[in-house]
Order: sequence, then structure tokens, then C-alpha cells
Amino acid sequence: MNARRDFLRQTLAGAAAATGAAASAPALARENLKLSPDALGLLFDSTLCVGCKACVAACKSANDLPPDYNTPAHGLWDMPLDTTAKTFNTIKVFQNGKAVNKDQVADGYAFTKKSCLHCVDPSCVSACPVSAMKKDAVTGIVSYDPDACIGCRYCVAACPFEVPKYDYDSPRGAIGKCELCRHRIPEGHFAACAEVCPTGATLYGKVSDLKAEAKRRLTLKAGDTTLYPRGDLSNGPDRSWEGPVAPYVQHVYGETEGGGTQMLYLSAVPFQHLGLPTLGPRSYASKSEGLQHGLYGGLILPIVLFGAMTWAARRNSKHEDEGKGGEQ
Ligand code: SF4
Ligand code: SF4
Ligand code: SF4
Repeated sequence: MNARRDFLRQTLAGAAAATGAAASAPALARENLKLSPDALGLLFDSTLCVGCKACVAACKSANDLPPDYNTPAHGLWDMPLDTTAKTFNTIKVFQNGKAVNKDQVADGYAFTKKSCLHCVDPSCVSACPVSAMKKDAVTGIVSYDPDACIGCRYCVAACPFEVPKYDYDSPRGAIGKCELCRHRIPEGHFAACAEVCPTGATLYGKVSDLKAEAKRRLTLKAGDTTLYPRGDLSNGPDRSWEGPVAPYVQHVYGETEGGGTQMLYLSAVPFQHLGLPTLGPRSYASKSEGLQHGLYGGLILPIVLFGAMTWAARRNSKHEDEGKGGEQ
């Protein structure tokens, strides 16, 4: 099942890019795209999250999104269980056994944030046949253009994190997903989810700074105290607080997964408990574009041969007709 889903994602992720390249490229895979030095992103530290969902409400407000009544048992509440076209950010909880120990697996629980990870080499961008999904060359933000979108939902199928969602209520079809609050940057604001987070569990900034901060935390001893910045790490976080260090899993999720992501995760429970898939370092887009080039490349020879045969048949038929005409 997973292999079939992977194949579908790889195939879709390269369709658009391969179409343009088919005429000239041999069946070659390409390298992963590289992270821009000025790329922006988020660091989500699950051990700091208290599940208050202030970030979920702030995301709704910042993006002017309506309530999402998709939990039938709680129809009066905006309680989305997953990202939707009306909900770009969710906080979920992993629970095990009695679920009383925070950031532990045994009888434990841990919070996780789900929003677009702004992949370094995004398969949604690669899959989109009309470039409605685009990656900014400087900030690396993956944006969505509803005017260009044709509602094909290739991006929905291609995303390895199952983030973008189709709006079935929209008369002309539309996709909803986090755009890292790019519309707030010209107004001097940054990601609303990071701006309101009371603990700094969601931190905004340049990916290079966020990575350095994540790695600093991994060098600390569990139980010691340290300062945790809040807000925008790269522009002098205006607030910080002192707190204990959790027994982190010694890995920054997103540094390599799927070719890297601009949203990074720290956790004290294995990342798969946070709903994050185990991915190798190659991006789907780099693999799929190679695969697609192979498929298209394999088709070029038969198409050329078919064209040549058709031309030869027509020419022979014309000569025969001319010959017949001469005999009459
Ligand atoms: S605002 Fe911060 S602490 Fe509250 S749920 Fe969101 S990430 Fe967690
Ligand atoms: S997480 Fe999904 S929607 Fe976001 S950039 Fe990556 S592939 Fe695209
Ligand atoms: S960056 Fe903006 S759009 Fe993305 S999850 Fe945070 S608040 Fe929502």
C-alpha cells in the first residue's frame, strides 16, 4: 500500500516538470533542490507545546478563515481533526496508555503541529501542471495562487505530509494550505502562530538560525534549565523564558527528510508518534522527475518511429496515386 502511494506521489510530483523537459532530456534523475541561505521557516519543539491552540486560532484570524465544523460530535465548536481548506494549522496529541506523562511514550502524551512544512524541494510544486504552487527563490515559502489553480488536486496527492486540502465548498475549486503568513511580511509581521505562541514551542525565523537553535537544544542535558526564545528568532526575539530541558530524541526532523523542510521539529518521543513519516534524504520531486523523464524518454522513440512510418506511408500513397493518374 505504502509502495503504491509512494509510486503515485513520485509520478505525480514529476508530471509537470517532465512535460516541459521531455523533448530534450534523457532519462536522468536530478539532484534535490538546495535550501536558500535566506529561507524562512518554523521550529516546532513538541516538548514546549502545552496544547493551548492559540496558534490555531491565530492562524484562522490571520488568514481570515471561517470556523470548521467537521467534528460531528462537537458541531458547535471549531474543532478540526486535520488540516482542511479552512484550517491551515492544527495541534494534535499523541496518547498512549493512561496518557499522564508528557513527552513520554509509556503512559504518555505529546503534542504535535500540522501545517505546511515548506519543503526545500516540494512535490506539490513539481506536481502542479499550471504553476499554481510556487516556491519563492529567496524565502523558500511555498505559495498558492487560486487564480491559476485548475482544481486538479495533483498537489493533494503528491504531498508526503498530506497537508494541502481541496475545498469542496468552493464553486470553482480551490486548495487551502499555510503560506507561512507571507501576506503579513510587508506589514512587518511574521507567522501568526509563532507570534502568539506563549511558550515558544512554535518559533519563526531564518531556517539557518532555527537549525542552530535546535542543535543547541540537543547538546543540553535533560533536566538542566535553559532560555527558550519566543517569536521571531532572527530579529531579536523580544521574549524568552527559562525552563527545563526535555530528554530530546537526538535528531532534528526536517533537516534531511524528503530533501529537507523549512519547518523543523524537535521531540522527546519518536517522530512517527507525531504523525511525521519516515522519509529518506531524496525528495519525491527529484526522484519523480527522473522517473517521468524515463517514461517520456521511452515514449519519444516510438512516437518518432510512428511519425516516420506515417510520413513514409503517406508519401508512398501519394506516389501511387500520382502513378495511377499517369496511367489513365
Ligand atoms: S500556541 Fe504554542 S503552546 Fe499553544 S498549542 Fe500552539 S504551539 Fe502549542
Ligand atoms: S508539506 Fe506538502 S504542501 Fe507543503 S511544501 Fe511540502 S509538499 Fe508542498
Ligand atoms: S505560518 Fe501563518 S498560515 Fe502557516 S500555520 Fe502559522 S499562522 Fe497559519
